[in-house]
Amino acid sequence: TEAHVRAVEAVRPFNIFITETPDAALSMAKASDERRAKGEAGPMDGLPIAVKDLFCTKGVSTTAGSHILDGFKPEYESTVTSQLWRDGAVMLGKVNLDEFAMGSATITAHQGETVSPWSPGAPGAWEKKIVAGGSSGGSAAVIAARAALGATGTDTGGSIRQPAGYTGTVGIKPTYGRCSRWGIVAYASSLDQAGPMTRTVEDAAIMLRSMCGFDPKDSTSVDMPVPDFRAALTGDIRGLRVGIPKEYRVEGLSPEIAALWDQGIAWLKEAGAEPVEVSLPHTKYALAAYYIIAPAEASSNLARYDGVRYGLRVEGGNLKEMYENTRGAGFGKEVQRRILIGTYVLSAGYYDAYYNKARQVRTRIKWDFDEAFKSCDVILTPTAPSTPFAIGEKMDDPVQMYLNDVFTVPINLAGLPAMSVPAGLGADGLPLGLQLIGRPFDEETLLRVGHVVE
Ligand code: GLN
Repeated sequence: TEAHVRAVEAVRPFNIFITETPDAALSMAKASDERRAKGEAGPMDGLPIAVKDLFCTKGVSTTAGSHILDGFKPEYESTVTSQLWRDGAVMLGKVNLDEFAMGSATITAHQGETVSPWSPGAPGAWEKKIVAGGSSGGSAAVIAARAALGATGTDTGGSIRQPAGYTGTVGIKPTYGRCSRWGIVAYASSLDQAGPMTRTVEDAAIMLRSMCGFDPKDSTSVDMPVPDFRAALTGDIRGLRVGIPKEYRVEGLSPEIAALWDQGIAWLKEAGAEPVEVSLPHTKYALAAYYIIAPAEASSNLARYDGVRYGLRVEGGNLKEMYENTRGAGFGKEVQRRILIGTYVLSAGYYDAYYNKARQVRTRIKWDFDEAFKSCDVILTPTAPSTPFAIGEKMDDPVQMYLNDVFTVPINLAGLPAMSVPAGLGADGLPLGLQLIGRPFDEETLLRVGHVVE
């Protein structure tokens, strides 16, 4: 823990941490030593981790990367983080994200952008600043920089997998309902899931086990036994059928990514798995459906930030003006855009045309996967259609940024588990990831296959 606390200081130029908690880390490490001396160590005892600043942590500032939560110190701890502390993990601090987890690059937080540790050049004097991906870019960067052994992330449309892919780390989005959402700042409640981000698949298996489990405080939490995920890492994938969805050869897929995908297929074949072509015909509608459903839910979830209950208040002549001033000053541009889109698609005159249509498409996408899993056990795709980009790119045009989520959002719409595993470096020396998608509650197969790929 002492070494990691020093590493946290050393990585300050990358703007990874929003809040450092060295005192908490050292006292948690001490308590862990005492437990160990008594032979009572938990499965994560003494392991220093970072927490995405979207998880409420009791008494520790929680900002969601937004000005509107200034000064908010929760009175409670999220279920997922409390389970990690129960199992002995040590908290190094809270890490950066896109504001309210809306984004793919960790550039929209009020606290500034996170720079990927993979950026060429010396820290602070980079030749080019590369994004760490997003929204869990702080979680990905802290692991890539070797300043934490693991980090919590959340994934609504790719926010664990895409930053993992862009930083050469491992990230798992579990099946919807595996991890409790209680105490996590809500973005789009029917899509949000927490998950682990780590250096290795084995670490992810250990951390995932601590994060999962039934929680009566979350009505969508699923009451199912949590397997010993580590036992799934047998190294044996002989006979496993690996689905390759033909619709994922999308227009604009970089040749480098296509080659990486072929390489992944070849690795699995060599290990005895059998590639099979599958079809996910509604893939082309997934982004459109996602960028209606997610903003719709977000506009409703974010209604609570009104200057009365949390954080920032900007006074006005009357109550309505106070709301307007607070929300106008407190939310950044991307969050305001999503609230406007969400409010629009939910309005009485447009509800059927947009929101209801998107929900129907969502069901079709789920059926596509049900059908595909009749002929395969796991699906392999690239994590993102492009290599990690530079800070500043894709920023003027939000649609360009949204297109980057093409391989990740269908999985959230279908509620399935998926994982990004490091698969090598691209021509520019930056990391690339492959995505594995599993049947509901079959994280074990993902881990087993991921372990062979990494
Ligand atoms: N990039 C997607 C979005 O902006 C996904 C974000 C996420 O998974 N939290 O909505």
